[in-house]
Amino acid sequence: MSVRIVPFARKPSACLAFAILSATSALLPASALANEAGECTPGTELHLSAPESSQGSLLLVEVKNAKPLTEVQGEWNARSVPFWQEAGNSGGERGLLGVDLEQSPGKYELKLSGQTANGERISCSASLEIRAGHFATERLHVEKEFVEPNPEQIKRANEERQRLRDIFDRVTPERLWNGKFRVPLDGVTTGGNFGRRRILNGQPGSPHGGVDFPAVAGTPVHAAQRGRVVLAEELFFSGNTVVIDHGLGIYTFYGHLSEIDVKAGDSLESGQVLGKVGATGRVTGPHLHWGLTVERARVNPLQLVKLLGNE
Ligand SMILES: [Zn+2]
Repeated sequence: MSVRIVPFARKPSACLAFAILSATSALLPASALANEAGECTPGTELHLSAPESSQGSLLLVEVKNAKPLTEVQGEWNARSVPFWQEAGNSGGERGLLGVDLEQSPGKYELKLSGQTANGERISCSASLEIRAGHFATERLHVEKEFVEPNPEQIKRANEERQRLRDIFDRVTPERLWNGKFRVPLDGVTTGGNFGRRRILNGQPGSPHGGVDFPAVAGTPVHAAQRGRVVLAEELFFSGNTVVIDHGLGIYTFYGHLSEIDVKAGDSLESGQVLGKVGATGRVTGPHLHWGLTVERARVNPLQLVKLLGNE
């Protein structure tokens, strides 16, 4: 059976609006529907937060059936996509698709399978278009040692990069977060530089994998949601750094802190202070570098606040 993919509303009333859309999707005018079409077994609906996506973006996927769903799994871009059930979400299962900021543009197949509470198998598939992101290029001047590190510093930076990759590769099967994600600084809603291609002292650097929030040194930095601290130490490039595992492959990263107030293994509540804004590591001034990794994809963390900020 062919289904239509319905974009989520992006208003604070997303949940309510979504419930209305689901119930009346057959009556919606064509202009309210995305062009992309997916295929599902009869009785199952697939909804996406947007009909297509671009490098460094997140898509929220929801699968619904009149009967409660269990064990929904997804596969996309050779990765498995974990799904969770939102409390009070009348049987729908949700998952997040992270598009890495360097993922090649093109069409990617999404495949979902699962079963209903009474054992009926369900499945869906959809083709998702990934577009190139539009990222600015910036030229920066930093201390020479960060652009031309000595062999010992290169070794250290490579080891740290590998450690971070190993952390982001692990998918904790439980959802540790509960509710909205927040921006880590109080009173701040926007930040910049995500995905920027950078020329450091005339040499091309890797793209900027997070959002920067300039702030006064010493400003408290809050955990974006509940989770477990998996790294809390000084790294060569990002200075004093904290990484939180929120479960289901979602990690947030906090860099350049002047002070770290947590340790690896700590369980944090949403909003708990984990450290203070600083200028440690490779920086041009005090700011918070906030990163988000979803199933190993580096994506814009502000999109997580937007997509899971209105539960
Ligand atoms: Zn940064």
